Amino acid sequence: ATNPLSIPFDNSYAALPEGFFARSAPRAASAPRLLAFNAGLAADLGITGTGDPDALAQAFSGNALPDGADPLAQAYAGHQFGGFSPQLGDGRALLIGEVMGRHGQRLDVQLKGSGRTVFSRNGDGLAAIGPVLREYLVAEAMQALGVPTTRALAAVATGDRVQRETAQPGAVLTRVASSHLRVGTFEFFAARQDKARLQVLLDYAIARHDPDADSPLAFLKGVIARQAKLVAHWTAVGFIHGVMNTDNTTISGETIDYGPCAFLDGYHPATVYSSIDRQGRYAYDNQREVLPWNMAQLASALLSLEPDTQAGIAAYTEAVNAMPALIDAAWLRHFGAKIGLAEPTEADRPMIEGLLTLMANQEADFTNTFRGLSDGTAGATFTDPAPFHDWETTWRARLAQETDPEARMLATNPAVIPRNHRVDHALKAAAEGDMAPFETLMRVLATPFTLSDANAAFAQPPRLEEEIEATFCG
Ligand code: AMP
Ligand code: MG
Ligand code: MG
Repeated sequence: ATNPLSIPFDNSYAALPEGFFARSAPRAASAPRLLAFNAGLAADLGITGTGDPDALAQAFSGNALPDGADPLAQAYAGHQFGGFSPQLGDGRALLIGEVMGRHGQRLDVQLKGSGRTVFSRNGDGLAAIGPVLREYLVAEAMQALGVPTTRALAAVATGDRVQRETAQPGAVLTRVASSHLRVGTFEFFAARQDKARLQVLLDYAIARHDPDADSPLAFLKGVIARQAKLVAHWTAVGFIHGVMNTDNTTISGETIDYGPCAFLDGYHPATVYSSIDRQGRYAYDNQREVLPWNMAQLASALLSLEPDTQAGIAAYTEAVNAMPALIDAAWLRHFGAKIGLAEPTEADRPMIEGLLTLMANQEADFTNTFRGLSDGTAGATFTDPAPFHDWETTWRARLAQETDPEARMLATNPAVIPRNHRVDHALKAAAEGDMAPFETLMRVLATPFTLSDANAAFAQPPRLEEEIEATFCG
């Protein structure tokens, strides 16, 4: 039978020279079953013939790829927890092609968990249902929160088992990204001193992401600007990525690779959930320090395309050194809005930091403290509200200078986020065959700024016994 599903592929990465990727076929799935499908995103991508769930499961497991797919694993390198790996690459993912989205933007369509590739090293190339659905759910939640992110198009159970701590049902995620180019893609060719391919990569990346950039330095500045905005936005919604290695740092400025990620419940700047982040390198508030470090690795890779002059090196150093100020400015805009200020200035920074210190002292709930500023319930997030009420007096005086701060706060401070315990519950149920909690959570997270009777329970922090201590890679 022919697959009625049609994807208007328009592939460009596959036309790059040898050395950028390895063509690779997805592994056959024994009994593919559709778990989740993003019909709205599919429509944006011009995908048609999506009516039959079995056809979708066949396509997005990789069993029956639609016409025009050209599956390949991309080569990249990366600094992982500070140490350089010259050869990573897609060990369990395949770019099946690109489409021109409804808004005229080129988008990658990628399968994740579709079997081994030449880059798999010791990995099995597979993904378990929990991590696949976590990425699906958190990516779409980030989109609804307004944070730049890769998107989730489909999740399919393969019918095969994946061995982790225990045997788990296997699954494949289909994700969509402005591209999968990473800092690590540049590092891959720079480490090989392959200037010819590095230049090809740069030209490709500029065409896709920075058409106005007229030099490697201008391109670097574009990436830095996007990543500065991104990390500030993460901190504003209480997001902790967990694995900010340079192979997980995009050129597009989208959040990518939701592994052991988590959202803050109680606020503390040193919060870490990821079980593999033993030193706290990627702790909540270290994220702002780490991105400039990651951009220094991109700068270093791009510098190999420049004449080796002192002035050239100085210009790159300056671009990287300018990043903390960009992050600080974006942070101030976000946190200023969170307390109701339209145009926060440096004079407002101590007040914001003062609130965060009070919150940290008592590990007040991050989301509910900020949300509670608009309805007078913020004090209830503190065990001892007295210091907060002092702060509130100063804040209200400042707020008197603002027009409609309530609306600003309600549009900036989500009522519901993907609480770790809720996500965990939904994923565990899914692994046991019950998709209902996942579907409910997806529905609730689609409108994070609206609080209603229907979603009020999802705004509750975990009870002590519900708290998630650590998150894991899948
Ligand atoms: P991550 O930090 O999760 O983005 O992954 C780092 C590298 O390990 C990437 O090159 C992945 O493709 C690869 N990788 C992760 N998990 C697996 C797996 N189960 N099988 C093969 N490769 C994997
Ligand atoms: Mg990765
Ligand atoms: Mg990963």
